[in-house]
Amino acid sequence: MIEVVLATRNAHKVKEVQRIFDATCKDIAIIDLSNWKDAPEVIEDGTTFAANALLKARTLAAHTGQTVIADDSGICVDALNGMPGIFSARWAGNHGDDKKNLQLVLDQTTDVPDTRRGAQFVCAFAVVTPDGVERVVEGVVDGEITRQPKGDDGFGYDPIFQPYGFDLTTAQMSPEQKDEISHRGQAVRNLIPVLKELFGLNQGCGGNCACQAN
Ligand code: IMP
Repeated sequence: MIEVVLATRNAHKVKEVQRIFDATCKDIAIIDLSNWKDAPEVIEDGTTFAANALLKARTLAAHTGQTVIADDSGICVDALNGMPGIFSARWAGNHGDDKKNLQLVLDQTTDVPDTRRGAQFVCAFAVVTPDGVERVVEGVVDGEITRQPKGDDGFGYDPIFQPYGFDLTTAQMSPEQKDEISHRGQAVRNLIPVLKELFGLNQGCGGNCACQAN
């Protein structure tokens, strides 16, 4: 079993990423940061999702001496010129205040008509090995911003994001349904073949898992 460290302290993300890996590739185990209580906080001052994901993975690979994966993600609202984007976690001022962030986006888009409420969830995943190999992959899901929050599952902007082709927000979907279409689901599924290549697992998992197809 190959182990990689997931560089996040966001419990929602750990849960989602773990779930997507479990459903996709059984030869790679995700370790969270609980073994590294003194892990440094990374200042996410990159200008893109990819740059921020790499910053986190690089810093934590240097700290842990392990292969580290890290994501940076957010919501890009067309009517807000692609914002909150990389500022999604702190759009209303305080990092991680999901309710205020979401409400601010709703307030800012009150006058935006139904025909111009497009948005994307974007996720960049970086992997950095202890010997300095770096790769980045991305996943994107297109949809629109609702006018009211709907649903209790998920986190962040899930209650106001409705993927195209669905009458549900991502907060109304089952976890498995969200993973199937989500930016993070796609990014992880793009990451798995990269990890397999880095670890020389090109023969597939040899089990009942989707990564054999990659
Ligand atoms: P990060 O931890 O710097 O990647 O910040 C990501 C922020 O983007 C989160 O705090 C959420 O507000 C938002 N976000 C990213 N992915 C999702 C998702 O799957 N659902 C809802 N919000 C998300």
